[in-house]
Amino acid sequence: MSNQAPNIRVGHGFDLHRLAPLTGSVEHGKPLVLGGIRLVSEAGPIAHSDGDALLHAITDAILGAAAMPDIGQLFPDTDPKWAGAASEGFLAEAAASVKKVGWSIANVDATVILERPKLGPHKEDIRKNIARILGLHVSQVNIKGKTHERVDAVGEGRAVEAHAVVLLTQSRG
Ligand code: MG
Repeated sequence: MSNQAPNIRVGHGFDLHRLAPLTGSVEHGKPLVLGGIRLVSEAGPIAHSDGDALLHAITDAILGAAAMPDIGQLFPDTDPKWAGAASEGFLAEAAASVKKVGWSIANVDATVILERPKLGPHKEDIRKNIARILGLHVSQVNIKGKTHERVDAVGEGRAVEAHAVVLLTQSRG
C-alpha cells in the first residue's frame, strides 16, 4: 500500500431473500428475522441460514471494505454447517476478520426494503442489536426502512431487500 493511500475504506453490501408464507404453502418461509430481531409476519425468508437479509448486507459491506472474500464465499449455502445458522455469527466473524488486519468500523448505514410488516417500530431494537454485535455505540449504526410502493416482487411482499454501507478506519497501533 502506498503511503499516500488514505487510511479509510468504504464498503457496500446488498442482499435479497424471497419471502413465502410460514405455513400453508409448498415452499415454507422461515420466521422473519431482520438485524437479529424477530418480527411478527405471516411470511418469512426462504433461506439456508436464518435468512437475515439486513445482517447479510452489513456483513458483505464490512468484508467488501477490507477487500475480503464475501459472505457467500466464507459461509457457502451449500455447506450443511450453516443450515439454519443465526446470521449474528457471520456478522461477528466479519467484524473480527477486519479488526485482525487493523481496521475499525467507523459507522454502518443500512436500508431495509420491505412491504410489510412496518420496520419503524423495530428500528431502535435493530440498531441496538447490531451495535451490540459489532461492539459499537448505537450512534455508529443507522437503519432506515422503506417500502417498494407495492410494485415489483418486493412491493408485492414476495421478497425483502437490504442495502448497507460501512466505513472502516485504520486502527491505531
Ligand atoms: Mg442472504
